[in-house]
Amino acid sequence: MLLHLQTWPEVESYLRTSRGVIIPIGSTEQHGPVGLIGTDAICAEIIAHGVGEATGALVGPTIAVGMAQHHMAFAGSITLRPSTLIAMLRDIVESLSVHGFEKFYCINGHGGNIATITAGFSEIYAARSMAPGGWVGQIRCRLRNWWEAAGVRDLVKELYGDAEGSHATPSEVAITQFARPEAIKRAPLDPPIAPRGDFTDATDYRRNFPDGRIGANSALATPEAGRRLYEVAVAGLAKDYQNWLASGEMGRTGRPG
Ligand SMILES: [Zn+2]
Repeated sequence: MLLHLQTWPEVESYLRTSRGVIIPIGSTEQHGPVGLIGTDAICAEIIAHGVGEATGALVGPTIAVGMAQHHMAFAGSITLRPSTLIAMLRDIVESLSVHGFEKFYCINGHGGNIATITAGFSEIYAARSMAPGGWVGQIRCRLRNWWEAAGVRDLVKELYGDAEGSHATPSEVAITQFARPEAIKRAPLDPPIAPRGDFTDATDYRRNFPDGRIGANSALATPEAGRRLYEVAVAGLAKDYQNWLASGEMGRTGRPG
């Protein structure tokens, strides 16, 4: 169920049966010569929607722009400052908590978001811990990266081995090809497997990784592999979401229903 396609009475009725919501978080950044700028947002969104279908969970709007300062030397990339992403995440979570949502399950599509989302959770918890007057309703946030869902690593290894790399990976490109077959791109990749290494800012990144890829051969992506990766990621995350929802105490906000 997508929040955007519900009415407010439907959301009110959903809250009588569940206090959980899924939030997809991606990025808008270069993914090499064949990967789409929207790769991380597309992956997070389609997988989150799949988990929503599998579990009956409500899925909120995709945060399609993330913390991608290191990609800014490539055309089309957009970044939020870490502080902006933290503020956006906090506002979304706190808005939904006003209505009674208590469990926020973030499905992330971009490694560069991890530190910032984690800091965002701390910011959200800190505001509640420091609320004037003390106790406020309890909420819980959880971050899951789709590529760490149960079964995904094994499948990626089987499909791509060392050619997976860490940016513009054939697995993320494959998922976008499955999601958006009309936008499959082809271009020469030289060398086929991109260099590996570290980076700091955008200039350093482009110097070390001239075509934008890190350690990956994006040309190995196929929509068929993308479908398999999607199905495994959805199954793994759906199980994790349900287990997490069932764990811990719920309904301690004192709100009705
Ligand atoms: Zn990516």
